[in-house]
Amino acid sequence: MAVKQFKAESKRLLDLMIHSIYTHREIFLRELISNASDAIDKLYYQSLGEGNTGLNRDDFRIDIKLDKEARVLTLSDNGCGMSREDLEKDLGTIAKSGSLAFKKENEPKEEIDIIGQFGVGFYSAFMVSELVTVRSRVFGADEAWEWKSKGAEGYTIEPCEKETNGTDIVLKIKENTDEDNYDEFLEPYRIQELVQRYSDYIRYPIKMDMERSRLIEKPEEETKKEDYKPEYETYVENVTLNSMVPIWKKNKNELKKEDYNSFYKDKFHDYEDPARVIHSSTEGSATYNALLFIPSRAPYNYYSRDYEKGLQLYASGVLIMDKCADLLPDCFSFVRGLVDSQDLSLNISREMLQHDRQLKIIASRLEKKIKSELLSMLQNEREEYEKFWKNFGLQIKYGVYGDYGAHKELLQDLLMFYSSAEGKLSTIPEYIGRMKEEQKYIYYACGETVERIAALPQIELLKEKGYEILYLTDDVDEFALTMLHEYDGKEFKSASSGDLDLQSEEEKEQAKEQSEENKDLLTAVKEALGGKVSEVRLSSRLKTHPVCLSSEGMLSLEMEKVLSSMPG
Ligand code: ADP
Ligand code: MG
Repeated sequence: MAVKQFKAESKRLLDLMIHSIYTHREIFLRELISNASDAIDKLYYQSLGEGNTGLNRDDFRIDIKLDKEARVLTLSDNGCGMSREDLEKDLGTIAKSGSLAFKKENEPKEEIDIIGQFGVGFYSAFMVSELVTVRSRVFGADEAWEWKSKGAEGYTIEPCEKETNGTDIVLKIKENTDEDNYDEFLEPYRIQELVQRYSDYIRYPIKMDMERSRLIEKPEEETKKEDYKPEYETYVENVTLNSMVPIWKKNKNELKKEDYNSFYKDKFHDYEDPARVIHSSTEGSATYNALLFIPSRAPYNYYSRDYEKGLQLYASGVLIMDKCADLLPDCFSFVRGLVDSQDLSLNISREMLQHDRQLKIIASRLEKKIKSELLSMLQNEREEYEKFWKNFGLQIKYGVYGDYGAHKELLQDLLMFYSSAEGKLSTIPEYIGRMKEEQKYIYYACGETVERIAALPQIELLKEKGYEILYLTDDVDEFALTMLHEYDGKEFKSASSGDLDLQSEEEKEQAKEQSEENKDLLTAVKEALGGKVSEVRLSSRLKTHPVCLSSEGMLSLEMEKVLSSMPG
């Protein structure tokens, strides 16, 4: 039987986990339980689609068995199980789950800490085990397979006996060393405590045998005797360790910030606490519980094609879709979380979901909710909001511009830009608050950086007149403002547009005369440039610079540049 090697990156993470002096090893249990729960979800959802499979929701369970003598902890589920190929693919490589991203992003010195907060999945079993054996049988299959590994050296797979579908994870718990105590993971009370702390919300019963004691009942006359001593006997009871109430169904005032934070980090594979938590329950035209999180940093692939938006969707507590994209508009694609609704049918197909009226109502409610949460952050926690803006502002700006401006009203108050007046980010209403009395327009100028814009000849006169100018540094910025067109009756105007409308009638008259006088010169310059410009004019806006470029019509110079640099 050949020993197979783990993929290179898995091997490194394994080494790291096995050898780290690591205080949060206990999270291995949470990881294995969450896999077991996922496996049951999968089978249950699959069975809904297939009709009569004989499966009953009440029969699903997760069992924990402890054998102190043999130092073995076994965790069993009756979920979907893994085929030989699954074992190879899912347990032979770690690159699939979010773990790889974490590995890339972080310096080695941070790693030990990160493991504690961040789901590292199945591999965490090696933190407490000297040998991990996985026996699994796919529902409906007639063969079962055994995967075995002692850690970084590799693993074996061979056929085995297993009567029922599902997976047994058998951990041979490490011996204690001078520094480390592993015995605790063989103690029922410790295991009970860990399940209650980390896995209470799991919606299937997690069962374990617990020793109890009870009073041995005696006839009444005996208990009345003077020398009566109560006697106790011990017995074993198979108890359900978790309350099975998912966190989003709990009452808000029962929950602490840490409950939300650890749920978020566990479920959505982040190692930082979320910036905001939105927990809402609604009844009426749509009945649902939603638990949404605004991450405090952008995932490494956020601004790439790989990023997939969406919320988990549950129908009456059963997971029916992992990333339901229809629940989130693109502008809020960074939001993670879940929705649980009893209005949705359990075996609704993806195609049907897209047209589901309830889902549309929920989506539009959530959209408003997210916006009001962001606004409240902007108003009450400026620093947090600016951090949010640096992570996700670009997406909001794309959102204003995208969908032909369908979301512009939703988003306009959330926008922030640097400006000539303030060395910090400013919203449009804040800019308007500082506008001069006679000022008609909201001025902006575009460029690569704030410093470059500040040095533009086009904005000299505006600055001299004391008008503030918004500094737009992202390609999408001007497209977004053009889509908005105006805010509160005030039009946006590019500092590089030909007609800034800053002159008095008298000045205009004067300029016209000057142009007449210099007509020949202007024509000569235009000809010298050989058709590269459409007109050469005298300008009154320049102060220290002799010449500048400007544009006319809908598109500014910068927008033309962006458009002509786009492929296609
Ligand atoms: P993740 O849960 O983030 O996908 P894990 O490392 O925890 O990563 O698990 C890797 C994969 O192994 C899972 O996605 C799943 O396909 C498979 N797996 C793990 N445990 C089980 C189980 N008890 N039953 C069925 N499949 C499992
Ligand atoms: Mg997992």
